Amino acid sequence: MSAAEPELIVTVDRTRCVGTGACTGTAPDDLELGPDGRARALRPASTARDELTEAAEMCPVEAITVHFAHSGEQVAPLY
Ligand code: SF4
Repeated sequence: MSAAEPELIVTVDRTRCVGTGACTGTAPDDLELGPDGRARALRPASTARDELTEAAEMCPVEAITVHFAHSGEQVAPLY
C-alpha cells in the first residue's frame, strides 16, 4: 500500500497575475481565471503535485506558490 499523497496549498498573488491563463490550462482542477481575469485557487487543498509544480514554475510573473499543508515547506517554485 502506498502512502497518501501529501496535501498542498496553492496560493496566487493576484496583484502580480497578468492573466495569461497558462496555469489554468496546466492545473485546471486547482486554478481558474476569475471574473477579473486573474487566476485564483479552486479548492483549499490539493494533491496534484506535478500539475501545481509545473504551473508555479511556468508563471511568467512568479505569482504562484505551492506549500505542503502539514509543514508549510515550499514545494514550488524552487530557485
Ligand atoms: S500563469 Fe501566472 S500570470 Fe498567468 S494566469 Fe496563472 S498566475 Fe496569472
